[in-house]
Amino acid sequence: MADLIDIKKTATPEEWQDWHWHLRHRITTRDELVQYIRLTGDEEAVFRTANFSFRMAITPYYLSLIDPANPVDPVRMQAIPRVMESYLSENDMSDPLHEDADAPVPGMTHRYPDRVLLLLTDQCAMYCRHCTRRRKAGEHDAPMPRDNVDKAIEYIAEHKEIRDVILSGGDPLTMSDQRIDDVLGRLSRIPHVDIVRLGTRIPVVLPQRVTDDLIGVLQKYKFVWLNTHYNHPQELTFEAQAALAKLAEAGVVLGNQSVLLRGVNDHVDVMKELVHRLVKNRVRPYYIYQCDLSEGIAHFRTPISKGIEIIESLRGHTSGLCVPTYVVDAPGGGGKIPVMPTYIISQMPGRVILRNYEGFITAYTEPAYLPVDDADYKDLCPPERRSDEGIMTLLRGDKVAIGPAETKRNKRRR
Ligand SMILES: *Cc1c(COP(=O)(O)O)cnc(C)c1O
Ligand code: SF4
Repeated sequence: MADLIDIKKTATPEEWQDWHWHLRHRITTRDELVQYIRLTGDEEAVFRTANFSFRMAITPYYLSLIDPANPVDPVRMQAIPRVMESYLSENDMSDPLHEDADAPVPGMTHRYPDRVLLLLTDQCAMYCRHCTRRRKAGEHDAPMPRDNVDKAIEYIAEHKEIRDVILSGGDPLTMSDQRIDDVLGRLSRIPHVDIVRLGTRIPVVLPQRVTDDLIGVLQKYKFVWLNTHYNHPQELTFEAQAALAKLAEAGVVLGNQSVLLRGVNDHVDVMKELVHRLVKNRVRPYYIYQCDLSEGIAHFRTPISKGIEIIESLRGHTSGLCVPTYVVDAPGGGGKIPVMPTYIISQMPGRVILRNYEGFITAYTEPAYLPVDDADYKDLCPPERRSDEGIMTLLRGDKVAIGPAETKRNKRRR
């Protein structure tokens, strides 16, 4: 067997710092991959299956984080496909979150009242094996047609209720500085857009992309937040930490969204170490996602109870700043549903019994309290920003009941 090549030795130090070099030298075939790493049976097998459809592309940087001696290395699990990707489980769905059904213009999902998700490109620096958007990511490995982006921005400008725009993909930071500048500039001229969030895995898989020029662009806009996607402490390398420091110092507010993945981070100690290292690098753990029902990722899923166990291990045991919200993105498109351990043990009129992380049980006696008059507050919030849908219609007394339309009882009534 030929000796393995150390991928870092294939570049000069200047090339290794150059994000374009990394994109040009992504590992995209089995034959390239085996020069650097000895494949396991599950990895070899995937390249022989007919329905291996989701593009592989690994930046040399991200590949260099893999310990080649460890067949279950957490970075390896996220980057190198395995034959299980070709299995379809009976619960799998191609668009489990119904992102396409909620798209008023192609590539933009308007699900929640005040924010939209805009997919600017389908290119990623590295294609995550657990990607939820695998039906789309990497399809063309290129930015969206400009026409789509124009239509989306027009839609945002026309809808005054949209105050938050999430730029995602693919990975928006694979686009050129000019293109990022152009989109941010146009959004910044829409008065009702308060913030723009970048959803990007660049700080994880290609921190070299965080150049001084990119920082120069981001710094121009005070409304930029960035949510990245670290799943394991091993990903917080020296280079990654340097990129995060540059972003933080430029005033970009940093958050992290992890995906709970079997064999990668489905352990309380792994997650605790991850959130500690994130906070140390000024990144607020924002969400942990339950792995969703996209096709070909059944081998990554855990029971929901694993996520509850992880939150139990964090809340109270460590800083509240380190505790993300664990969410299940509703199959069928209902959006994110938070799930956590139960802290309310019992209640009666006037008193609530609560428990803390130690199992200490306490009684909170509630004050006598009458609902405040909404009319006193009516000028505080512009009408298009009021929470007046769903359960809120019941709380506000606008409706006495809501619920499924498609029941036998409702059909009989009609
Ligand atoms: C996740 C998501 C958002 C943002 O949700 P937040 O809870 O505000 O972070 C918005 N739109 C879509 C379609 C999403 O999937
Ligand atoms: S970076 Fe995001 S969109 Fe791209 S492959 Fe990974 S999870 Fe999917």
